[in-house]
Amino acid sequence: MDGGQPMVVATRNEHKLRELGEALPAVELEPLPDDVELPPETGETFAENALGKARAARRATGRAAIADDSGIEAAALGGLPGVRSARYAGEDATDEQNLAKLLGELEGAEDRRLTYVCAIALVSEDGTERLFEGRCKGTLADEPRGDGGFGYDPAFVPDDTGPEDGRTMAELASIEKHAISHRGRAARALAEHLGRRESRRP
Ligand code: IMP
Repeated sequence: MDGGQPMVVATRNEHKLRELGEALPAVELEPLPDDVELPPETGETFAENALGKARAARRATGRAAIADDSGIEAAALGGLPGVRSARYAGEDATDEQNLAKLLGELEGAEDRRLTYVCAIALVSEDGTERLFEGRCKGTLADEPRGDGGFGYDPAFVPDDTGPEDGRTMAELASIEKHAISHRGRAARALAEHLGRRESRRP
């Protein structure tokens, strides 16, 4: 919804498109048209990368656009892989290879603290830009468990489910994941902003 128009989601990642759709039920979302090219994710921050993608989608379509950039930060690695999370094990690495690399880097490490970070950029039809950020803290499991979610989820044990729970993000139902995830939190901040804006319209 931006003046009633659907919003373009600047991503080629179908997991993200689905998760954003589930987290923003009141917003009509459209996938990015096939011919729109997204800029490379060369920024130093999640916000910079998200803004670059949302700007490109708005420029190409004339529609309001949203984009997210996200990743995982390991405390013992000084915040790596961070903005390089999707390419941690190499340019064309799979989710499994990236996760295997993180598990290898932290093998035997005492400090297994992780933080998922998500920045969502909104570029409205009139070019106004806004940023929303969500975080989710957790620890790295010794080995992957569960087949929900994507990426690093099979080895991410969120703090929010409490010390007794111990399930990985990939073992949670998607509704449970959205309630605590970095993307869910950033998406709810965006939804609140859109709701406030709609209620101010004459
Ligand atoms: P990007 O935002 O397209 O740069 O990709 C971020 C990368 O971070 C993904 O490819 C995943 O490896 C990881 N990531 C981001 N969000 C999640 C999540 O919710 N679960 C698991 N991995 C994630």
